[in-house]
Amino acid sequence: MADKLAGTPLSERLKAEIAKTGPMPLDRFWQEAMTAPDGGYYMAGAPIGEEGDFTTAPEISQIFGELVGLWLVDCWDRAGRPAAFTLMELGPGRGQLMADALRAAHMAPDFLEAAQAVMVEASPSLRRSQEAIMANAGLSKAPEWQTDWRQALQDDDGAPLFLIGNEFLDALPIQQFQWGQGAWRSRVIELDDAADFVFRDGPVAMPEVPTGLDTPPEGAILEHAPERAEAAELLAQRIMRSGGAGLLIDYGYKTTRFGDSLQALAGGKPADPLQAPGQADITSHVDFARLATAAQANGATPHGPVDQGVLLLRLGAEARMAALTRSATPEAAAAIAQGLRRLIHPMQMGSLFKALAITPNAAPPPAGFET
Ligand code: SAH
Repeated sequence: MADKLAGTPLSERLKAEIAKTGPMPLDRFWQEAMTAPDGGYYMAGAPIGEEGDFTTAPEISQIFGELVGLWLVDCWDRAGRPAAFTLMELGPGRGQLMADALRAAHMAPDFLEAAQAVMVEASPSLRRSQEAIMANAGLSKAPEWQTDWRQALQDDDGAPLFLIGNEFLDALPIQQFQWGQGAWRSRVIELDDAADFVFRDGPVAMPEVPTGLDTPPEGAILEHAPERAEAAELLAQRIMRSGGAGLLIDYGYKTTRFGDSLQALAGGKPADPLQAPGQADITSHVDFARLATAAQANGATPHGPVDQGVLLLRLGAEARMAALTRSATPEAAAAIAQGLRRLIHPMQMGSLFKALAITPNAAPPPAGFET
């Protein structure tokens, strides 16, 4: 097979580096594959949507972003309708979620008046698409863009922060450790005889192992995502200082478990995460227990995680669908129903995807997270 993937400047650079300095940790490889200026996946523009490498909830149904928008308005309302606040989105993709959310927020003109939107986006081409889609979103202040999520979360001007991140955390890099012969070793990337990237056992490591997982079976894989925990930590610290709320939606699990969840998608199909750095979207399951612990350790209160399907139903997805289909043609109505079903059905995205809310510690559960 002619290898169209071989020889990209990025993969050649990574190969040269491994040949010179030895095995590369997975998180470093991932970071390079996704965000390196010389060919990282998101730098070229991340084809998102039905025709692209992967599709996401806001691309499937407008109801998703609308309900997120109403959720944010409701949090702002419960916080006493502050006259100035930061409305932040982590990893806005093509901007569809924010566009739908702001359209729904037109029911609360004071919210649109008070919002300073901050879009946190590493990709220049996705940023352009967000700029286009948000040009007429009805915000009174021009949105700002930031490329560095740490900086964005730390740039606290004292105003409350209302934040949404959908399928952002799954894009941040992970480390993997494998258990064998009585020790954990980090998994690293080397070159085989054909100069292809392959996993190898790396040095002995002592990862923190959650209670309950202290007797791993031979070959068990443990995943750690320090950057994802750090994002939850910075978010918690910020809303403890200045108020607000955050909603993190992603695919993942509720309690930490063993397993290799690394995956890559190109053209909507599974791809080898190592073979084409920069040409496939690399993600892994999000460990929601770890995010909740990080929030709690910083004084904030995590709520959930709640299955995406359950959350959307609690937020009124069916009523919104009924309103949308009332004046639609039968074909359009069927498409609307099918889109929502994909987001909600447990066999589709409804239970694989989960939502975690983070609020200040004295706040009651936000909408959809009541127990
Ligand atoms: N939220 C969108 C897109 C999800 S894809 C949706 O639901 O459709 C992941 C998004 O995160 C993309 O916009 C990508 O460019 C951005 N992203 C990934 N890694 C990033 C990083 N390290 N810093 C900033 N943005 C990043």
